[in-house]
Amino acid sequence: MTSLPVLPETNSAHPDDEAASRPRKQHLLNVTDDVLGTWLSDRGYPAFRGKQIRRWLYSGRATAFEMMSDLPAKLRGELAESFDVFQASEAHVSTSRDGTEKILVRLADGGEVECVLLRDGDRRSICVSSQVGCAMGCVFCASGLDGVDRNLTRGEILEQMLRLQHRLPAEERLSHIVMMGMGEPLANLPGVLGALDVARNPEGLGISPRRITISTVGLPPAIDKLAATGIPYNLAVSLHAPNDELRSRLVPVNKKIGIEPVLAAADRYFTSSGRRLTFEYVLLGGVNDSESCAHELVRVLRGRSVMMNVIPYNPVEGLPYRTPRKDSIARFRQILEVSGINVMFRQKKGDEIDAACGQLRRNRGSIGKKTDASTP
Ligand code: SF4
Repeated sequence: MTSLPVLPETNSAHPDDEAASRPRKQHLLNVTDDVLGTWLSDRGYPAFRGKQIRRWLYSGRATAFEMMSDLPAKLRGELAESFDVFQASEAHVSTSRDGTEKILVRLADGGEVECVLLRDGDRRSICVSSQVGCAMGCVFCASGLDGVDRNLTRGEILEQMLRLQHRLPAEERLSHIVMMGMGEPLANLPGVLGALDVARNPEGLGISPRRITISTVGLPPAIDKLAATGIPYNLAVSLHAPNDELRSRLVPVNKKIGIEPVLAAADRYFTSSGRRLTFEYVLLGGVNDSESCAHELVRVLRGRSVMMNVIPYNPVEGLPYRTPRKDSIARFRQILEVSGINVMFRQKKGDEIDAACGQLRRNRGSIGKKTDASTP
């Protein structure tokens, strides 16, 4: 779930809105280097052409083959007959006064997801979606209100990253990626890991895995699979409650898992990756913001090296949850800090507009039939 300070709307419909009705070619961003290499050699082109194409995509910010000026015209034509560089369109863009930009991306099949570019000092961070909808059903989240439609492909995840990169001036580059948009990233490991392979590749976006965070409600088998990759991504586990009774109410998938197995998997991830764990806690007024919840949380986290990221709730239209009172937030924070837990309170912003993850899509987009295809 993402909170961001979206204010005025700067543009809306994108000229390539007709993407959904175009004949489908292969999405180039779904094509691995090996497959592209074979495609090139089958047509008699040398392997270095693949390297040139990658450079145009990830450094040259090309959105069409005709922009790839050092490729032979014949090759550009053949590529354009077989592939699309991008297959989605931008159904809506919102921009805040602080430069944060949020895109509602319309996929080739009409599904919609959201992604965000945040500017903070030298940082250029992006928050990217992994699924259309979400099956986890967190009761306070707009993204999960209608369940999950499908997993995004590696190319659809990469396209969000590139569309956000293209919003930066040429002298700026993306510095951080957070997989915390719509969907549960660990329910779509193939798509997410495929996209992140390109994101961290020096010939891709060149972003260190230490600057990439994967956020999850906590699916233990998938956390173990992530650990087995040996790639030191940051892991952020969304806890939202200090006990099973409350967590199962707020994060329904917890009924099948339980807090202890989630914490045990997170501990294993910490042991194997060496990366300090982050726990996320959306603070809901009158629900999980009491002093007793704070004390219980301290007991649950005792002995662990963690960063506790507390996010005062952004109200979502149609949901009965509210922002916590200022004194509750202060007391909650004090109890965690006095207990020696590293705490970061994220500023709540933009609560008068479609600021929380999933709201933009819900309020502006068409939401189709959803299934529970990717439950853990
Ligand atoms: S896992 Fe994230 S996107 Fe999914 S319902 Fe929960 S908060 Fe929303």
